[in-house]
Amino acid sequence: MPPRKAPAKKAQKPKPATSSRSAARKPATKHAALHTASPQWERVDAWLKERLAGLKRQPALEKRAATVADLLVAEFPDAQCALHHDDALQLIVATILSAQCTDERVNMVTPALFKKYPTALDLANAPAGELEKDIHSTGFFNNKAKSIRACCRDIVERFGGEVPEAMEDLLTLRGVARKTANVVRTNVWGYPGLTVDTHFARITKRLGLTEQEDPEKIEVEVANLLPPERWAHFCHAVILHGRKTCKARGPKCDACRLVPHCPSAFKES
Ligand code: SF4
Repeated sequence: MPPRKAPAKKAQKPKPATSSRSAARKPATKHAALHTASPQWERVDAWLKERLAGLKRQPALEKRAATVADLLVAEFPDAQCALHHDDALQLIVATILSAQCTDERVNMVTPALFKKYPTALDLANAPAGELEKDIHSTGFFNNKAKSIRACCRDIVERFGGEVPEAMEDLLTLRGVARKTANVVRTNVWGYPGLTVDTHFARITKRLGLTEQEDPEKIEVEVANLLPPERWAHFCHAVILHGRKTCKARGPKCDACRLVPHCPSAFKES
C-alpha cells in the first residue's frame, strides 16, 4: 500500500505588522493572581477590586510596567508625597490647595495655616475673608476656601471631627474625589492606591500603559498591571519623573532611562 500523503497545508496570509502599543494591548489570559496573591489585596477598596476582577491580564503590558517601575525605583528610591503634613486633615487641606499650584507654594502656606486653624472645626468656622487671605498665594483662593470649609464641615458634622479612613466615607466629603481620597489613604494609612494627577495621566499614556483619558479609568487600567504593593511608590516616582524629565511640553527623551520601554520616545514635543 503506497504511503498516504500528508494533506497540503493552506498557504497562510502574512500577518500585518502591529505597533508595539497595539501588540502589547492584545488581551491575553483571564484574570489571575497578580493582585489576589498580594499581601495588600485585602486593603484595596471595594470599588477598585470589583473593576479589576472584570479585567483580563495583559502580560506584555505588565512586563513593561514592572520594568518601568524597577527603573523608577532606581532613579527615585525615596519618592514620596511632596505635600508636608502631620495627619489626614492637613493632607486633605494641602491637596485641595495644590490644585493649579505647586507643592512648594502649598508647603510655604500650610505651616502658618495649620497653626492658626489646628482642627476641622476651626477650618469649618474660619471667618469669611480671613481664610481666603491666608491661602491667597495658592491661587483660586475663593473656591479653595469654600471647598475647605465645606469639607471640614462634613468631617465635623458626620465624622466627629476626624477624617474617615474608609474610601466610601472619604468620597462623601464635599470636594473629595478618588484622587484626594487615594492621596490621603496611601500617605497617611499606607493603603495601596494610585493617585492620578496630570503628570501620572500624561506619562502612563506616553508609556502605552493606558489609552484612557478619564482619571478613574486610568487608575483601574494601570492598577491592573502592577501588584498593589507597588502602586504607591510607582505613582510618586512617575510624578517625579514627569516633573524632572517627561515634561508636558518638550519631554527630555535624550536624558530618559525609560526610552527602550517607551513607545512615545522621541515622538512627543
Ligand atoms: S522616553 Fe520620552 S516620552 Fe518616554 S517616558 Fe521618557 S521622556 Fe517621556
